Amino acid sequence: MFDKILIANRGEIALRIQRACKELGIATVAVHSTADADAMHVRLADESVCIGPPPASESYLNIPRLLAACEITGADAIHPGYGFLSENARFAEILEQHGITFIGPTSEHIRIMGDKIEAKETAKRLGIPVVPGSDGAVTTEADARSVAKRMGYPVLIKAAAGGGGRGMKVARSPEEIGQALSTARAEAKAAFGDDSVYIEKYLSKPRHIEVQVFGDGRGNALHLGERDCSLQRRHQKIMEEAPSPALNAEQRKKIGETCAKAMQKLKYRGAGTVEFLYEDGEFFFIEMNTRLQVEHPVTEAITGMDLVIEQIRIASGAPLSVRQEDLVFSGHAIECRINAENPKNFRPSPGKITYWHPPGGLGVRVDSGAYQGYRIPPNYDSLIGKLIVHGKNRNECLMRLKRCLNEFVIDGIETTIPLFVELVRHPDIANGMYDIHWLEKYLGKPD
Ligand code: ADP
Repeated sequence: MFDKILIANRGEIALRIQRACKELGIATVAVHSTADADAMHVRLADESVCIGPPPASESYLNIPRLLAACEITGADAIHPGYGFLSENARFAEILEQHGITFIGPTSEHIRIMGDKIEAKETAKRLGIPVVPGSDGAVTTEADARSVAKRMGYPVLIKAAAGGGGRGMKVARSPEEIGQALSTARAEAKAAFGDDSVYIEKYLSKPRHIEVQVFGDGRGNALHLGERDCSLQRRHQKIMEEAPSPALNAEQRKKIGETCAKAMQKLKYRGAGTVEFLYEDGEFFFIEMNTRLQVEHPVTEAITGMDLVIEQIRIASGAPLSVRQEDLVFSGHAIECRINAENPKNFRPSPGKITYWHPPGGLGVRVDSGAYQGYRIPPNYDSLIGKLIVHGKNRNECLMRLKRCLNEFVIDGIETTIPLFVELVRHPDIANGMYDIHWLEKYLGKPD
């Protein structure tokens, strides 16, 4: 097992990882930018290193500075969290070369899944059903037209290097395809430095359902059930639940086993998420994330497993801690992403938290690095906490969630809590009847 882990992240996830390390008796190193000197993840770490000024490119994304921090503190492993360098194959490779363990999959698997075209081809080869689309990249308008004609409109043009919903454009008719192609390519170039795009059939009413997997890197792998992340705005998740209200036990078992088998064939190591769109009883692979997800706590709530501890154990060479047949799924869990944003127009609302009162009680978890008096810097994303509620069934979970949202008080900044208060009262949410377009329609902005 490791003696000391450096956590190359900030905010709630840095704290989340620290907690796992502490329970395992592993010393922790926090890194931070000058904007985060007062952050909770720095205060609670055993050691901390300031790695640069506020821009992420000069701090949290700066590989030489992270290596120097490892060197100074003698850390023997790095946990990258999510975002930042968590899916950067080059980073994983550099750590491998320096004898520092990257808590995650091999750089090769990160690279394969980071290119969405290659990821889809790999998924297909491993027996996972994929969204119908172009075979590989599409460069010319003529190619795009013929692919779209074959599949039928509408189609979605997506960036091969995509992430965070960027570089995605819908074309509803042949007239729109030229413009959509050039906009998607320009956006992809600006966001990822790579303008490769591909085309998929645009599904009109799918749910986003993803399967949590774990592998030991030696051909053993299992699944921890699914999460339904259909409540989205601008292709970004805002609320997640497990299990999905749309699946029955048989469908759940089948898709879980398909993913676990694929990961066994791939000899995948560590935690991963296989993402699907689900429509009319069919699953279509869209991508695989080779890291811990923001929404992992809903899986922890229904399985009782600590996913970060499992990641650390596997990275140290240990086998999987459970067998598929011994896993017990219990009850229902929902997570709300609390963002420092105006709940109507979603404009970021950084600043000082003057009052902070999180909810508590049975089945309630709040993951956050925020506290009363904390000043949210304007430099990073606006997620300031996650409220995760667990109940014996979906009904109990929703009742508890309503109670918690009313109990949660954050003053001094605006947050998305009022939006969730509204959403949990809506009959469609109460009945679990929503797809990926539901929230945008509800907000009055059909796309
Ligand atoms: P990113 O990596 O940018 O998050 P994904 O491929 O994971 O991109 O897709 C993000 C979201 O975009 C999905 O959850 C879904 O809402 C929407 N989306 C992606 N592909 C399609 C598609 N073929 N049809 C309809 N919506 C899609």
